[in-house]
Amino acid sequence: MDPQTVFCPNSDCPARGQTGQGNIHVHSLKEQRYFCDVCGKTFTARKGTVFYRLRTNLDQVTLVLALLSHGCPVCAIVFAFGLDERTVRDWEHRAGQHSEQIHQHLVQRPRDLGQVQADEIRVKMQKVIVWLAMAMQVSTRLWLGATLGEHRDGTLVTELIHRVRAAALCRPLLFCIDGFQAYLGAIHSVFREPIPTRSIGRPSLRPWDGIYIAQVVKQYAQGHVIDVLRRVVQGTSAQVNHLVQTTQGHGVINTAYIERLNATFRSRLAGLVRRGRCLLQQTATLQAGVYLVGTVYNFCTYHETLRVPLYVGRAGRTHWVSRTPAMAAGITDHLWSVSELLGYHVPPSHWIPAKQRGRPSLATKKLIKRWC
Ligand SMILES: [Zn+2]
Repeated sequence: MDPQTVFCPNSDCPARGQTGQGNIHVHSLKEQRYFCDVCGKTFTARKGTVFYRLRTNLDQVTLVLALLSHGCPVCAIVFAFGLDERTVRDWEHRAGQHSEQIHQHLVQRPRDLGQVQADEIRVKMQKVIVWLAMAMQVSTRLWLGATLGEHRDGTLVTELIHRVRAAALCRPLLFCIDGFQAYLGAIHSVFREPIPTRSIGRPSLRPWDGIYIAQVVKQYAQGHVIDVLRRVVQGTSAQVNHLVQTTQGHGVINTAYIERLNATFRSRLAGLVRRGRCLLQQTATLQAGVYLVGTVYNFCTYHETLRVPLYVGRAGRTHWVSRTPAMAAGITDHLWSVSELLGYHVPPSHWIPAKQRGRPSLATKKLIKRWC
C-alpha cells in the first residue's frame, strides 16, 4: 500500500482527487484501508473500482469480465462458473459504468484527431430495435465512444459528434461518414464556438476552421456492393486528400476502419451478434457492454497495424513493438491488464469552495490556498 499514489475519494473533502500531498496515511494494512487527515475519513483501497464491496474472489471477477469483453455469452459463464445470472449482469453493469468513467477521464481529452470515421449499427434486442453510433480516430485506431438511440436520427448522431468534439483540438479534422445526411447538420451545429463580445446575451457562434467532411455512399444490388460513390461535402479535394494521406498513409476516402471496428464489436459483444439467441432486454446492459468492450479494446488489446519496427536483427529479422490504440494516442505507455483496468481509480474533479456571502473565514482561506 503506497499512500503517495492514492487520493481521497470523499466528495466533501477539499483534498479530493489529489495525490502526493501527504494527506493520506495507511489506516489498516489488514483491511486495506487508508485515512485522510484533511476530512478525517477512512476509506478502502477498492473504493472507486469495480471490486468495491464485492465478496467474490477478485481473480474470478476479472476472469468473468475478461470473457464478457471478448464475446462470451452470459449463459456460458453461468454454466461454467456456477454463478447466478444476476450476479454476472451486475458485474457487467459495474464494469461498464467504470469503463465509461475511464473513457471520459482519459480518452475524451482534446487531441489532434486528424481523421475521424463514424458509423451506426442496427442492434436487434428483445422486442425492439436500437441503433448504436460509434466513432474512431483513424491514425491511432482509438475508439472515441458510442451513443445509443431508439431511432437512427439527428439526436443520435449529434450526441456522438459531441463526444468527438470532447476529444478534439481545434486542428484540421476530416470526418469520413456514410450517406446519412443528419451528420452534416450535427457536425455544423456542434463544431462551433462563441465569438467573445462584451455585450449581454447569447454570443454569436462561428464554425471551426479546418473541418472537412467526406461521404462514402455504397450502392447495393441483391445484397452486394455494386458501386462506391466518394464525395467531398465540405472542403476541397486537395485538403481532404492531404488529411487522408497523413492519417492513413495511403488509400482513398473510405469508412473501412470504422466498419472493421463495428465487426470487432459484433464479435466481442454477444448481444451485437446478428443472428443469435443472446438478445439483450435492456439498453443499459447494451451500453455497459459496449463501454466495457470499447475500453478493453483501447487499453488492453494490441492492434496489429499499430506495431512499429524497433530494430533489425542479425538474420535480417525485424523486431517490432506492439501498441494498443491508447499507447498510439499517447494516453498510456504500456498494455493494461483487465485487472488494472477494473482497479483503476478515476479521480474526482478538484474541490471548489461553496459560494457564500461575506468574507471567507481564516480556515476557509487556508483550505483554498492549499487545495485550490
Ligand atoms: Zn479527505
